[in-house]
Amino acid sequence: MQISEKLYKEALRYIPAGVNSPVRSFKYVDGTPIFIKSARGSKLITEDGSELSDYIMSWGAIILGHSSEVVNRAIVSALKNGTSFGLCHKMEIEFAKIFSNIFPDFLFRMVNSGTEATMSAVRVARGFTKRKHIIKFSGCYHGHSDQFLTSSGSGLATLSIPASNGVPEEFTLCTITLEYNSDIEILKNTFKKYEIAAVILEVLPGNMGIVPPKKEFINSLISLCRANSTLIIYDEVITGFRTGWGGIAGERKVEFITFESGIKKWESFEISIPDMITFGKVVGGGLPIGVFGGRREIMEKVAPSGDVYQAGTLAGNPISLSAGLAVLNFISETKNFYHILKEKTIALSDLLIEEFLKKGIPVSIVSGTGMLSLFFSEKVPQNFSDVKASDKKLFNRFFKVLLENGVIIPPSPYEAWFISLQHKEEDFEKIRKAIKKL
Ligand SMILES: *Cc1c(COP(=O)(O)O)cnc(C)c1O
Repeated sequence: MQISEKLYKEALRYIPAGVNSPVRSFKYVDGTPIFIKSARGSKLITEDGSELSDYIMSWGAIILGHSSEVVNRAIVSALKNGTSFGLCHKMEIEFAKIFSNIFPDFLFRMVNSGTEATMSAVRVARGFTKRKHIIKFSGCYHGHSDQFLTSSGSGLATLSIPASNGVPEEFTLCTITLEYNSDIEILKNTFKKYEIAAVILEVLPGNMGIVPPKKEFINSLISLCRANSTLIIYDEVITGFRTGWGGIAGERKVEFITFESGIKKWESFEISIPDMITFGKVVGGGLPIGVFGGRREIMEKVAPSGDVYQAGTLAGNPISLSAGLAVLNFISETKNFYHILKEKTIALSDLLIEEFLKKGIPVSIVSGTGMLSLFFSEKVPQNFSDVKASDKKLFNRFFKVLLENGVIIPPSPYEAWFISLQHKEEDFEKIRKAIKKL
C-alpha cells in the first residue's frame, strides 16, 4: 500500500487527519487510510492496484453493487437536464410516491444526508408535540448534529471520545441517552420523569455492530410512546430498503439471525409503523441523500405549511434522485430481490460459523438481510457496553489477515458489514481462506 501511504501523507497537509469522515482513518485498527481508485460490482480497486472484495459498500449506501449499469445510466440521463434547479421537478413526486405507497398518509421531504434527515425529524417532532426532551439509545447513531452527540456509535465510539468537544452542555440537556434493550422499569421511570417529544432509535441497530433488539424492549417502548403521546421515530438510514422494501417499518417486521455459543437462531417479530421515519444511504444509490417523513398531521408542521423551519438549496437534487429512483425501481422490478440478498447474507454467515468453529475461536454473529456483524465474544452483545467488551486485538488481527487476502471489512467492530447484490461465492471464499490463516 505504498501509494496509499504517500497519498495519505499528502492529504494530511490539507485535510484534518487526511480524511473527510473519521471511520476512514483506520485508527481503530492502527492502520492508515486506503485510497480507492475505482469500484465495480463487489470490488474496490485501490490506488496501489490491488483488488479488494468490499464489505463496506460505502457504509451501506451501495446495494446493487458498485458502478451499477442501471444507476450510471440514470445519472447520465439526468445530467443532460442540469445538475440542480433549486425549484420543483417531477422526479421529486415520483420519488416521494414510492415512500407514500408504503406508508399511506405519510408525507416525505428529501434532504442531503442522513444527519439532516434525523435532525429535521426531531425538530418537527418537538414542534408538533410542543415538548423538548428526546430519548436516544447509546450506540445508536443518528448523524452528527449536536443533540445526538451524547454517546455515539460509529466514528466517535471507535475513537473512544466520550462525547464531542464543541457541543455545549446546554445543547444536549434535552437528550436522554439510555442503554439499548433497557429494562422496562428504566423506560417507565424516564417517561414518568420527563415529558418526551420523541424517541428515536434504530430498530436493528447497525452502528455498534448489529445488536439484536429484544421484542419486549421494542414493544414496551412503543406502548409507552403511545400512552404518553410521544412520537416514535425509526431511524432507517441503514435498514431502509436494505433489509426489505421500505425497511423494517415497510415490512412491518424485524428479522435477524443470531449465532452464539454454537447455536444459530432465527428471530422475527412484528412491529408497527412509527409516527416518523428517516431514510438515507441506499435510497440515494451512492449519491448524497436523506429523507424524513411522518404522518400527514405531523409533517404539515413543516414550513411553509407549518411553523417548523426546514430547508435546503440542494434538497431533492435531481442527480441524487435519479440514482435513488434507479435503485428503488430496480429492486421493485427484480423478483425475489430481498430473498436473494438474504440468501447471500446467510451463506456468508454460515461460512463464518463453519470456519470459526473449526478454528475454535469463539465468535458471535448477528445478521439481517444485506448486513452482518461478527463479534469476538462468545455471546451476542445486548447493548453498546457489551460490544465494547469484545476482543479488540483479535479483531485487529482478523482485519489485517483479511486485507492481506484481498478482503476489506469495516475497520471497526462498531460497523456492520454490508453485502450487495453483486457479492458472489468467490468474495465469500476469500474470507474462508483468510480465516484458515488466522
Ligand atoms: C449513516 C447514518 C446516519 C447519518 O447519515 P449521513 O448521511 O452519514 O449523515 C444516520 N442514522 C443512521 C442510522 C445511520 O446509519
